[in-house]
Amino acid sequence: MKNTRRCPKCGGSDIIRGTTAVNGAYDKLQAGVFKAARTDRWVCCGCGYCELWVAQESLEGLKEFWGSPEGDGP
Ligand SMILES: [Zn+2]
Repeated sequence: MKNTRRCPKCGGSDIIRGTTAVNGAYDKLQAGVFKAARTDRWVCCGCGYCELWVAQESLEGLKEFWGSPEGDGP
């Protein structure tokens, strides 16, 4: 949806983006010792389907903090 601006479930184009704050535990993804990644919710207002995307600015921090999927993590 972020890239196509179209809902993959219902085909609707009534899409909104909500930026999530760091306070929601569900959306909190550690991107450093004192840093959490910023995430965006893309929601289809036609059917309610939603996607969760990590903001571009947080990707590098995530990579550094978590390492590769094969590692043991932080
Ligand atoms: Zn939809």
